[in-house]
Amino acid sequence: MDVKDVVIIGAGPAGIATAIQLKRCNIQPVLLEKEEVGSLLKNANLVENYPGFPNGISGLDLVKLFKKQLSRNKVKVGFERVRELEYKDNVFFAKTNRRVIASSIAVIATGTRPRKISTPAISDGVKGRIFYEIYPIRKAKNKKFAIIGAGDAAFDYALNLSQKNEVVILNRSKRTKCIPALMKRCVESKDVSFLCNVSLRKIDKKGERLLMTCLHSDGQGENRIYADYVVIATGREPCLDFLGSQLKKCFKNLLRTHTLYMVGDVRNGIYRQTAICVGDGVKAAMRIYRKIEKEGG
Ligand SMILES: Cc1cc2nc3c(=O)[nH]c(=O)nc-3n(C[C@H](O)[C@H](O)[C@H](O)COP(=O)(O)OP(=O)(O)OC[C@H]3O[C@@H](n4cnc5c(N)ncnc54)[C@H](O)[C@@H]3O)c2cc1C
Repeated sequence: MDVKDVVIIGAGPAGIATAIQLKRCNIQPVLLEKEEVGSLLKNANLVENYPGFPNGISGLDLVKLFKKQLSRNKVKVGFERVRELEYKDNVFFAKTNRRVIASSIAVIATGTRPRKISTPAISDGVKGRIFYEIYPIRKAKNKKFAIIGAGDAAFDYALNLSQKNEVVILNRSKRTKCIPALMKRCVESKDVSFLCNVSLRKIDKKGERLLMTCLHSDGQGENRIYADYVVIATGREPCLDFLGSQLKKCFKNLLRTHTLYMVGDVRNGIYRQTAICVGDGVKAAMRIYRKIEKEGG
Protein backbone atom coordinates (compact mmCIF):
# COMPACT_ATOMS: atom_id res chain seq x y z
CA MET A 1 0.00 0.00 0.00
CA ASP A 2 1.30 3.44 -1.00
CA VAL A 3 1.02 5.58 2.16
CA LYS A 4 1.50 9.30 1.53
CA ASP A 5 2.94 11.58 4.18
CA VAL A 6 0.14 14.13 4.29
CA VAL A 7 -3.37 14.53 2.91
CA ILE A 8 -4.96 17.98 3.12
CA ILE A 9 -8.73 18.21 2.69
CA GLY A 10 -9.88 21.59 1.40
CA ALA A 11 -8.09 24.16 -0.78
CA GLY A 12 -9.20 27.38 0.89
CA PRO A 13 -6.64 29.77 2.45
CA ALA A 14 -5.93 27.33 5.33
CA GLY A 15 -5.28 24.30 3.12
CA ILE A 16 -3.30 26.37 0.61
CA ALA A 17 -1.03 27.84 3.31
CA THR A 18 -0.45 24.36 4.77
CA ALA A 19 0.46 22.94 1.35
CA ILE A 20 2.86 25.76 0.43
CA GLN A 21 4.71 25.58 3.75
CA LEU A 22 5.01 21.78 3.44
CA LYS A 23 6.45 22.14 -0.05
CA ARG A 24 9.10 24.46 1.38
CA CYS A 25 10.07 21.54 3.63
CA ASN A 26 10.27 19.11 0.71
CA ILE A 27 7.04 17.39 1.67
CA GLN A 28 4.64 16.90 -1.24
CA PRO A 29 1.13 16.86 0.21
CA VAL A 30 -1.98 15.53 -1.50
CA LEU A 31 -4.33 18.55 -1.60
CA LEU A 32 -7.98 17.70 -2.28
CA GLU A 33 -10.76 20.15 -3.16
CA LYS A 34 -14.41 19.36 -3.88
CA GLU A 35 -15.30 22.59 -5.70
CA GLU A 36 -12.95 25.41 -6.64
CA VAL A 37 -9.76 26.64 -5.02
CA GLY A 38 -10.62 29.24 -2.35
CA SER A 39 -14.32 28.88 -2.86
CA LEU A 40 -15.62 30.90 0.12
CA LEU A 41 -13.17 33.81 -0.12
CA LYS A 42 -14.36 34.47 -3.67
CA ASN A 43 -17.48 36.01 -2.13
CA ALA A 44 -15.59 38.72 -0.23
CA ASN A 45 -16.20 42.22 -1.55
CA LEU A 46 -13.02 43.86 -0.25
CA VAL A 47 -10.46 42.23 2.02
CA GLU A 48 -8.88 45.08 3.95
CA ASN A 49 -7.31 43.20 6.86
CA TYR A 50 -4.93 40.88 5.02
CA PRO A 51 -1.45 42.45 5.26
CA GLY A 52 0.33 43.35 2.05
CA PHE A 53 -2.60 45.03 0.30
CA PRO A 54 -2.71 48.63 1.54
CA ASN A 55 -5.79 49.45 -0.55
CA GLY A 56 -7.52 46.16 0.13
CA ILE A 57 -8.09 43.45 -2.44
CA SER A 58 -11.23 41.68 -3.62
CA GLY A 59 -11.63 38.10 -2.45
CA LEU A 60 -11.62 36.97 -6.07
CA ASP A 61 -8.28 38.68 -6.80
CA LEU A 62 -6.72 37.34 -3.60
CA VAL A 63 -7.72 33.82 -4.60
CA LYS A 64 -6.11 34.37 -8.02
CA LEU A 65 -2.83 35.22 -6.25
CA PHE A 66 -3.16 32.18 -3.97
CA LYS A 67 -3.61 30.01 -7.07
CA LYS A 68 -0.51 31.53 -8.68
CA GLN A 69 1.48 30.81 -5.54
CA LEU A 70 0.28 27.20 -5.49
CA SER A 71 1.33 26.71 -9.07
CA ARG A 72 4.69 28.46 -8.55
CA ASN A 73 5.35 26.04 -5.69
CA LYS A 74 4.24 23.15 -7.92
CA VAL A 75 1.43 22.10 -5.60
CA LYS A 76 -1.21 20.23 -7.57
CA VAL A 77 -4.85 20.23 -6.49
CA GLY A 78 -6.90 17.06 -6.85
CA PHE A 79 -10.46 18.09 -7.57
CA GLU A 80 -12.14 15.34 -5.59
CA ARG A 81 -14.65 15.42 -2.80
CA VAL A 82 -13.61 13.47 0.28
CA ARG A 83 -16.70 11.44 1.12
CA GLU A 84 -15.16 9.81 4.14
CA LEU A 85 -12.00 10.16 6.20
CA GLU A 86 -11.32 7.02 8.22
CA TYR A 87 -8.49 5.91 10.52
CA LYS A 88 -7.33 2.32 10.95
CA ASP A 89 -4.03 0.72 12.05
CA ASN A 90 -2.29 4.11 12.31
CA VAL A 91 -3.21 5.10 8.75
CA PHE A 92 -5.77 7.64 7.46
CA PHE A 93 -7.92 6.67 4.48
CA ALA A 94 -9.41 9.52 2.50
CA LYS A 95 -12.15 8.09 0.30
CA THR A 96 -13.05 10.26 -2.65
CA ASN A 97 -15.41 9.65 -5.54
CA ARG A 98 -12.44 8.26 -7.50
CA ARG A 99 -10.00 6.55 -5.13
CA VAL A 100 -8.82 5.86 -1.61
CA ILE A 101 -5.71 7.74 -0.49
CA ALA A 102 -3.76 6.42 2.49
CA SER A 103 -1.65 8.81 4.59
CA SER A 104 0.20 8.99 7.89
CA ILE A 105 -1.05 12.51 8.65
CA ALA A 106 -4.29 14.26 7.74
CA VAL A 107 -5.12 17.97 7.72
CA ILE A 108 -8.77 19.00 7.80
CA ALA A 109 -9.13 22.43 6.16
CA THR A 110 -12.74 22.11 5.05
CA GLY A 111 -14.03 25.44 6.33
CA THR A 112 -17.71 25.98 6.97
CA ARG A 113 -21.04 25.52 5.27
CA PRO A 114 -24.05 27.79 5.54
CA ARG A 115 -26.43 27.20 8.40
CA LYS A 116 -29.76 26.65 6.66
CA ILE A 117 -32.84 28.26 8.14
CA SER A 118 -35.76 26.01 9.00
CA THR A 119 -38.43 28.69 8.57
CA PRO A 120 -39.64 30.09 6.25
CA ALA A 121 -41.71 27.83 4.08
CA ILE A 122 -40.01 27.85 0.69
CA SER A 123 -42.00 26.47 -2.23
CA ASP A 124 -40.15 24.33 -4.76
CA GLY A 125 -40.46 26.81 -7.64
CA VAL A 126 -38.56 29.37 -5.57
CA LYS A 127 -35.52 27.32 -4.60
CA GLY A 128 -33.42 28.24 -7.65
CA ARG A 129 -33.61 31.92 -6.60
CA ILE A 130 -32.26 31.40 -3.11
CA PHE A 131 -28.52 31.57 -2.52
CA TYR A 132 -26.22 31.07 0.46
CA GLU A 133 -23.20 32.65 -1.24
CA ILE A 134 -23.09 35.37 -3.88
CA TYR A 135 -20.26 34.11 -6.08
CA PRO A 136 -22.69 32.32 -8.44
CA ILE A 137 -24.79 35.51 -8.93
CA ARG A 138 -21.99 38.09 -8.88
CA LYS A 139 -22.77 39.24 -12.43
CA ALA A 140 -26.44 40.12 -11.73
CA LYS A 141 -27.49 43.63 -12.81
CA ASN A 142 -30.54 45.81 -12.11
CA LYS A 143 -32.13 43.22 -9.82
CA LYS A 144 -33.50 43.45 -6.32
CA PHE A 145 -31.91 41.28 -3.64
CA ALA A 146 -33.23 40.55 -0.16
CA ILE A 147 -30.48 39.51 2.23
CA ILE A 148 -31.43 37.71 5.42
CA GLY A 149 -28.92 38.17 8.25
CA ALA A 150 -27.16 40.77 10.34
CA GLY A 151 -23.49 39.74 10.47
CA ASP A 152 -20.37 40.67 8.49
CA ALA A 153 -21.23 38.35 5.60
CA ALA A 154 -24.74 39.84 5.14
CA PHE A 155 -23.38 43.40 5.02
CA ASP A 156 -20.42 42.43 2.82
CA TYR A 157 -22.82 40.72 0.37
CA ALA A 158 -25.00 43.86 0.41
CA LEU A 159 -22.06 46.12 -0.48
CA ASN A 160 -20.95 43.81 -3.25
CA LEU A 161 -24.38 43.36 -4.85
CA SER A 162 -25.44 47.01 -4.44
CA GLN A 163 -22.79 48.09 -6.94
CA LYS A 164 -25.21 47.07 -9.70
CA ASN A 165 -28.44 46.19 -7.90
CA GLU A 166 -30.84 47.27 -5.18
CA VAL A 167 -30.55 45.49 -1.84
CA VAL A 168 -32.71 45.22 1.27
CA ILE A 169 -31.28 43.63 4.44
CA LEU A 170 -33.83 41.85 6.63
CA ASN A 171 -32.88 41.47 10.28
CA ARG A 172 -35.02 39.70 12.86
CA SER A 173 -33.87 42.03 15.66
CA LYS A 174 -32.71 45.62 15.95
CA ARG A 175 -29.16 44.61 16.80
CA THR A 176 -26.60 44.05 14.07
CA LYS A 177 -23.47 41.95 14.48
CA CYS A 178 -21.32 43.39 11.73
CA ILE A 179 -18.18 45.46 12.14
CA PRO A 180 -18.59 49.29 12.09
CA ALA A 181 -16.73 49.79 8.77
CA LEU A 182 -19.22 47.60 6.85
CA MET A 183 -22.22 49.12 8.64
CA LYS A 184 -21.11 52.68 7.82
CA ARG A 185 -20.73 51.91 4.11
CA CYS A 186 -24.12 50.22 3.94
CA VAL A 187 -25.82 53.12 5.74
CA GLU A 188 -24.19 55.56 3.29
CA SER A 189 -25.21 53.58 0.23
CA LYS A 190 -28.38 54.74 -1.49
CA ASP A 191 -28.91 51.25 -2.85
CA VAL A 192 -28.99 49.44 0.51
CA SER A 193 -32.01 49.63 2.82
CA PHE A 194 -32.79 47.89 6.13
CA LEU A 195 -35.79 46.30 7.69
CA CYS A 196 -35.37 45.41 11.37
CA ASN A 197 -37.46 43.35 13.79
CA VAL A 198 -38.92 41.18 11.07
CA SER A 199 -38.93 37.44 10.79
CA LEU A 200 -39.37 35.84 7.41
CA ARG A 201 -42.33 33.44 7.30
CA LYS A 202 -42.82 32.55 3.67
CA ILE A 203 -41.31 32.94 0.20
CA ASP A 204 -43.68 32.55 -2.76
CA LYS A 205 -43.30 33.10 -6.47
CA LYS A 206 -45.48 35.93 -7.80
CA GLY A 207 -45.13 36.18 -11.56
CA GLU A 208 -41.45 36.68 -12.28
CA ARG A 209 -40.61 37.87 -8.76
CA LEU A 210 -40.42 36.50 -5.25
CA LEU A 211 -42.82 37.65 -2.59
CA MET A 212 -41.57 37.47 0.98
CA THR A 213 -44.01 37.60 3.83
CA CYS A 214 -42.44 38.80 7.07
CA LEU A 215 -43.90 39.18 10.55
CA HIS A 216 -43.00 42.14 12.75
CA SER A 217 -41.66 40.98 16.11
CA ASP A 218 -43.38 43.90 17.87
CA GLY A 219 -46.77 42.60 16.77
CA GLN A 220 -47.33 45.34 14.16
CA GLY A 221 -48.52 42.86 11.59
CA GLU A 222 -47.14 41.70 8.29
CA ASN A 223 -44.68 43.15 5.82
CA ARG A 224 -44.56 42.07 2.16
CA ILE A 225 -41.40 42.52 0.17
CA TYR A 226 -40.76 41.79 -3.48
CA ALA A 227 -37.32 40.74 -4.73
CA ASP A 228 -35.70 38.85 -7.59
CA TYR A 229 -33.32 36.85 -5.41
CA VAL A 230 -32.89 36.00 -1.76
CA VAL A 231 -29.48 35.58 -0.12
CA ILE A 232 -29.42 33.82 3.22
CA ALA A 233 -26.49 34.74 5.48
CA THR A 234 -27.60 33.48 8.87
CA GLY A 235 -24.36 31.95 10.07
CA ARG A 236 -22.09 29.07 9.19
CA GLU A 237 -21.14 25.77 10.80
CA PRO A 238 -18.01 23.57 10.54
CA CYS A 239 -17.91 21.25 7.55
CA LEU A 240 -17.17 17.86 9.15
CA ASP A 241 -19.78 15.56 7.64
CA PHE A 242 -17.17 13.13 6.25
CA LEU A 243 -15.65 11.81 9.49
CA GLY A 244 -15.67 8.01 9.66
CA SER A 245 -16.90 6.15 12.74
CA GLN A 246 -13.46 4.83 13.77
CA LEU A 247 -11.89 8.25 13.32
CA LYS A 248 -14.55 9.88 15.49
CA LYS A 249 -13.60 7.57 18.37
CA CYS A 250 -9.94 8.65 18.44
CA PHE A 251 -10.37 12.16 17.03
CA LYS A 252 -9.24 14.10 20.12
CA ASN A 253 -6.31 11.82 20.74
CA LEU A 254 -5.09 12.19 17.14
CA LEU A 255 -5.28 15.97 17.44
CA ARG A 256 -3.37 15.86 20.73
CA THR A 257 -0.59 13.72 19.24
CA HIS A 258 -0.31 15.96 16.14
CA THR A 259 -1.27 13.16 13.78
CA LEU A 260 -4.48 14.92 12.75
CA TYR A 261 -4.77 18.69 12.29
CA MET A 262 -7.68 21.08 11.94
CA VAL A 263 -6.85 24.43 10.37
CA GLY A 264 -8.84 27.52 9.43
CA ASP A 265 -12.54 28.27 9.78
CA VAL A 266 -13.44 24.65 10.51
CA ARG A 267 -12.00 25.11 14.00
CA ASN A 268 -12.17 28.83 14.66
CA GLY A 269 -15.79 29.45 15.68
CA ILE A 270 -16.72 33.07 15.09
CA TYR A 271 -13.10 34.05 14.38
CA ARG A 272 -13.27 33.31 10.69
CA GLN A 273 -10.66 35.42 8.91
CA THR A 274 -8.18 34.67 6.12
CA ALA A 275 -5.09 35.77 8.05
CA ILE A 276 -6.00 33.42 10.93
CA CYS A 277 -6.50 30.52 8.50
CA VAL A 278 -3.14 31.15 6.84
CA GLY A 279 -1.42 31.30 10.24
CA ASP A 280 -3.10 28.03 11.27
CA GLY A 281 -1.94 26.36 8.06
CA VAL A 282 1.68 27.50 8.30
CA LYS A 283 1.84 26.45 11.97
CA ALA A 284 0.38 23.01 11.24
CA ALA A 285 2.86 22.49 8.40
CA MET A 286 5.79 23.44 10.64
CA ARG A 287 4.61 20.94 13.26
CA ILE A 288 4.19 18.24 10.61
CA TYR A 289 7.73 18.83 9.34
CA ARG A 290 9.14 18.53 12.86
CA LYS A 291 7.16 15.34 13.46
CA ILE A 292 8.25 13.73 10.17
CA GLU A 293 11.89 14.75 10.77
CA LYS A 294 11.82 13.38 14.32
CA GLU A 295 10.15 10.09 13.41
CA GLY A 296 12.23 9.66 10.27
CA GLY A 297 15.51 10.21 12.03
C1 LIG B 1 -18.77 37.56 2.35
C2 LIG B 1 -17.48 37.21 3.02
C3 LIG B 1 -16.55 38.21 3.25
C4 LIG B 1 -15.34 37.92 3.87
N1 LIG B 1 -14.45 38.92 4.08
C5 LIG B 1 -13.27 38.66 4.68
C6 LIG B 1 -12.33 39.71 4.91
O1 LIG B 1 -12.56 40.87 4.56
N2 LIG B 1 -11.17 39.38 5.53
C7 LIG B 1 -10.87 38.11 5.92
O2 LIG B 1 -9.79 37.88 6.46
N3 LIG B 1 -11.75 37.11 5.73
C8 LIG B 1 -12.95 37.35 5.13
N4 LIG B 1 -13.86 36.35 4.94
C9 LIG B 1 -13.59 35.04 5.55
C10 LIG B 1 -12.71 34.14 4.72
O3 LIG B 1 -13.27 33.97 3.44
C11 LIG B 1 -12.59 32.80 5.44
O4 LIG B 1 -12.09 33.03 6.75
C12 LIG B 1 -11.64 31.87 4.72
O5 LIG B 1 -12.02 31.69 3.38
C13 LIG B 1 -11.66 30.50 5.41
O6 LIG B 1 -10.65 29.71 4.85
P1 LIG B 1 -10.61 28.14 5.10
O7 LIG B 1 -9.50 27.65 4.24
O8 LIG B 1 -10.61 27.83 6.54
O9 LIG B 1 -12.03 27.61 4.58
P2 LIG B 1 -12.74 27.82 3.16
O10 LIG B 1 -12.29 29.06 2.49
O11 LIG B 1 -14.19 27.66 3.44
O12 LIG B 1 -12.18 26.60 2.31
C14 LIG B 1 -12.54 25.28 2.62
C15 LIG B 1 -12.46 24.49 1.33
O13 LIG B 1 -12.68 23.10 1.62
C16 LIG B 1 -13.45 22.53 0.58
N5 LIG B 1 -14.09 21.31 1.13
C17 LIG B 1 -15.04 21.24 2.09
N6 LIG B 1 -15.39 19.93 2.30
C18 LIG B 1 -14.63 19.19 1.46
C19 LIG B 1 -14.54 17.78 1.22
N7 LIG B 1 -15.30 16.90 1.88
N8 LIG B 1 -13.65 17.35 0.28
C20 LIG B 1 -12.87 18.23 -0.40
N9 LIG B 1 -12.93 19.58 -0.21
C21 LIG B 1 -13.80 20.06 0.72
C22 LIG B 1 -14.43 23.63 0.23
O14 LIG B 1 -14.97 23.46 -1.06
C23 LIG B 1 -13.55 24.89 0.34
O15 LIG B 1 -12.95 25.25 -0.88
C24 LIG B 1 -15.06 36.59 4.30
C25 LIG B 1 -16.00 35.59 4.06
C26 LIG B 1 -17.20 35.89 3.43
C27 LIG B 1 -18.21 34.80 3.18
